[in-house]
Amino acid sequence: MHARDLIGGLSHLVGEAGVIRDPDEQASYLRDWLGRYEGRTPVVVRPRTTTEVSAVMRLCHQTGTPVVPQGGNTGMSGGATPDASGAQVVLSLSRMTRIREVDTINNTLTVDAGVLLADVQRAAHEAARHFPLSLGAQGQCTIGGNLATNAGGTAVLRYGNARELTLGLEVVLPDGRVWDGLRGLRKDNAGYDLKSLFIGSEGTLGVITGAVLKLSPLAPACAVAWVGASTPASIVALLTSLQATFGQSVTAFEMMSASCLDIDAAQRDDAPMPLRDAHAYHALIELAGTPDDDLADRLRQALALATQSGTIDDAQVADDAARAAMMWRVREGISQAQVRGGKAIKHDIALPISRLAAFIDEADAAVAARFPQASVINFGHVGDGNLHYNALLPLDIPDDDFARLTTSLNLCVHDIVVQRGGTISAEHGVGQLRRDALRRYKSPVEMDLMLMIKRALDPNQLMNPGKLL
Ligand SMILES: Cc1cc2nc3c(=O)[nH]c(=O)nc-3n(C[C@H](O)[C@H](O)[C@H](O)COP(=O)(O)OP(=O)(O)OC[C@H]3O[C@@H](n4cnc5c(N)ncnc54)[C@H](O)[C@@H]3O)c2cc1C
Repeated sequence: MHARDLIGGLSHLVGEAGVIRDPDEQASYLRDWLGRYEGRTPVVVRPRTTTEVSAVMRLCHQTGTPVVPQGGNTGMSGGATPDASGAQVVLSLSRMTRIREVDTINNTLTVDAGVLLADVQRAAHEAARHFPLSLGAQGQCTIGGNLATNAGGTAVLRYGNARELTLGLEVVLPDGRVWDGLRGLRKDNAGYDLKSLFIGSEGTLGVITGAVLKLSPLAPACAVAWVGASTPASIVALLTSLQATFGQSVTAFEMMSASCLDIDAAQRDDAPMPLRDAHAYHALIELAGTPDDDLADRLRQALALATQSGTIDDAQVADDAARAAMMWRVREGISQAQVRGGKAIKHDIALPISRLAAFIDEADAAVAARFPQASVINFGHVGDGNLHYNALLPLDIPDDDFARLTTSLNLCVHDIVVQRGGTISAEHGVGQLRRDALRRYKSPVEMDLMLMIKRALDPNQLMNPGKLL
């Protein structure tokens, strides 16, 4: 089908307001958040309902048109960016923003896939409940994108990742049929777990159009603290001891190398510093519970003991909400500061928590020896064993040099991760960025199983080609 006829057909299905033809207006849909990937498209199509998504997918199926689903376009792996062929239609869920149902007895929220994560959290809050998925891009990313990448974020330690927060899904299949799996069930063993298959499939098996999300009770009290320590092993030791003392009340435990704070401080004079002195490693800790738990005082005591015993060097518990918010801003500002501070070779790895510290020691030594021009920016969700172990290079490094270094540095870091029983993709998805690495590290049996699933669900290979597999 000629591109003009395809665009005409799509605009007939979703209305003129639902298609973007103008290249200037398309621009923000064609470039990823990090500015690393850029593609072309004949049209960005923005349906408003599942029925419209179904009609769009049916037309694309009939015409052999590849489709790239897109939510908030905050992904870190180039998964939502079309290729340069100009043949792939971008299917944006950004107009599907309905909160469909709030059920405070079943403790569930049913939403369209295009609802922003921050709006999901707000809707839960208005119902006096808590939706715990929480990440730096929550004002821009959509719940559909969160589910397609099985997003993690800062509260996985206590509540699990996106998959564990989802009870039901609605998915439009590559041929346009709708699978209505919007069940709010906590137990459902009637057949294969299709929901889990689509979650984390990065738009390669179908388009997620709706979800039933699990809500938690509001935690009326929380305590936030910032810690300085000299080694990652000390940070892991603190995590273990706090979990022994506070159990599931430990909702977030984030770690940052000193370079994460230095990079922000180098860019602006008023960069906040939660502790006065410099430390090689920092941690941000959040506990949640009831006012009776006396969390702030108990945390203060626990951290004082950890300082006395030499596990950590310094700690400060936030006295008020403003100070706690400042601590979180420092943590969440790292991604932006990193983009401004240099060209990053990014890793999204996870290891058993017991092996994290040894991994960091080995990887730091290997990177310093083999890539002296790179500085390591290491931060992440230590409570889940997930690190963004990134290497920063100067902004003006020539593209060829950057590409060459990326290949060899990725190999160096990923080989160490896999030898130590870890994964090369923890929460950001494989997308385009880690597609080759996936093939390198997955066994032939595992790759074959994934390819069989892909062929069964998307025999014409129209869903998000060039991503993941
Ligand atoms: C500052 C910042 C901080 C971040 N912090 C975290 C973090 O802590 N944890 C974390 O996990 N991620 C984090 N991210 C990454 C990103 O926000 C997540 O991957 C998020 O889940 C992507 O959602 P999105 O709506 O932007 O999806 P997009 O970027 O639009 O898409 C991501 C992938 O999902 C697919 N997709 C999108 N919507 C659908 C749909 N409805 N159906 C099928 N496939 C779909 C796309 O094709 C693509 O493959 C961060 C990003 C930024 C910019």
